[in-house]
Amino acid sequence: SASVSFAVAPAAPACSLADVMSEQLARHITTVCVCGYTTWGVDLAVPDTASDLMLAQMLQMQFDREYDDQLRREEKKFNGDSKVSISFENYLKVHPYEDSDSSEDEVDWQDTRDDPYRAEKPQTTPRKGFAGKGKNITTKHDEVNCGRKNTARMDKFAPEVHVGDGLGMDLKLSNQVFNSLKQHCYTEQKRSAKLHEKKEHSTAEQAVDPRTRLLMYKMVNSGLLENINGCISTGKESVVFHANGGSLEEQPFPDEVVLKVFKTTLNEFRNRDRYIKDDYRFKERFSKLNPRKIIRLWAEKEMHNLARMKKAEIPCPEVVVLKKHILVMSFIGKDHVPAPKLKDAMLGSEDLKNAYYQVLHMMRQLYQECNLVHADLSEYNMLWHEGKVWLIDVSQSVEPTHPHGLEFLFRDCRNVSTFFQKKGVGEAMNVYDLFNTVTGLHIPVDTEDEAAFIAEIVALEKRNEDHVQKRGKKTFPVTSEDSGPPLQLDADD
Ligand code: ADP
Ligand code: MG
Repeated sequence: SASVSFAVAPAAPACSLADVMSEQLARHITTVCVCGYTTWGVDLAVPDTASDLMLAQMLQMQFDREYDDQLRREEKKFNGDSKVSISFENYLKVHPYEDSDSSEDEVDWQDTRDDPYRAEKPQTTPRKGFAGKGKNITTKHDEVNCGRKNTARMDKFAPEVHVGDGLGMDLKLSNQVFNSLKQHCYTEQKRSAKLHEKKEHSTAEQAVDPRTRLLMYKMVNSGLLENINGCISTGKESVVFHANGGSLEEQPFPDEVVLKVFKTTLNEFRNRDRYIKDDYRFKERFSKLNPRKIIRLWAEKEMHNLARMKKAEIPCPEVVVLKKHILVMSFIGKDHVPAPKLKDAMLGSEDLKNAYYQVLHMMRQLYQECNLVHADLSEYNMLWHEGKVWLIDVSQSVEPTHPHGLEFLFRDCRNVSTFFQKKGVGEAMNVYDLFNTVTGLHIPVDTEDEAAFIAEIVALEKRNEDHVQKRGKKTFPVTSEDSGPPLQLDADD
């Protein structure tokens, strides 16, 4: 009962979607400002009417998906109960979501097959193919090929025009559409030159770039997400959106999720290099990567760190899926209302005391069980939800053996200690005791001289590094478990 699968030309679809598309799209281009994204059930919070092309691509994807649905129906009808089935797979327009690597341990950064951020886009189009009168090529080539070429040509539009990652999606544009878009782009260029200065200052514009928006749209289109609702937070390094989870391979996601989009504007990240460069888990890769890949490393790092925390049962968001530089995780909050940061939570003294002990316990767990130092711990990165403190924002977290790991931990301790002392929690330890309690070290605190205490810490770090180097253990294996042995620092030698 072998099931043979080979491709044949499918029966013609009910109507030519290419025609529908070109007409509608042409019309759409002029009415784009009226439509907005909400038409498609995605409100990406940042209506970018300048980026018509991206909208066109979204439109195309929508049509392609409808085409595929029709194709699937026909495939089913065609094959019926027959033992030998014929696959229409090759005729599908929307290819299965490019990275099916949804597991937590999968390394998304390695996937360059459809990398929309690749530095050089392939020059698939021989120049003569469309030199001179562009209109003439219309009838010469078959529609699909021509469409692909047109898509490739989008790349040649002015750099100010956001072409999205259509090049990576096997997108086909009809000549008519292509020409409309081209014309539109020229007009747009002039307009954009005028607007440019204003645009620079618009924070909404800068929340996420068009490529990211397209990736977000794809997540909705592929069913990973039900919809994307709005922006919870815009930070220097990330933008966080609220969304409703869809499903992946029939596995449903949580109803409420967040998308943490790591920013692809690189300036802010430069000063964070030292967190990742010296982390042995990422050292090897770091040197070889281009900036866009480095951004993805941040997302990957957060994912791994959250996984460790979950294992230790520290209250934290649960990773749902990682797509390039977008991390989808469970939402801490309820009915679209995010849990308040500890800084904003109006807690009574009993809750505050509770919170303090929870944080103390969490810091110890993080260090002892997860072998991690948060490295940006403060009342800004802890949420208060259902009577518990939840730990978030761990993309910069490092292992204690990181060359500056203990210094980061000291800073964390200071933030925590200061916060709870200011809030009047009498039980709150001072920074030195907190540090020693979390680490199990016994750095003398008699003098309470901060400089001396930090000097001790730095000396420890130095000794640990020498120790590691002497044993020739420059890199530890990063397993899927991703949990190394806890740090052994002999405090009293
Ligand atoms: P950043 O590096 O930009 O500070 P964070 O991870 O701290 O990124 O996220 C920014 C803000 O978004 C947080 O302060 C919090 O208010 C909100 N947030 C982040 N993750 C979640 C989540 N899983 N559930 C609810 N709110 C979240
Ligand atoms: Mg934060």
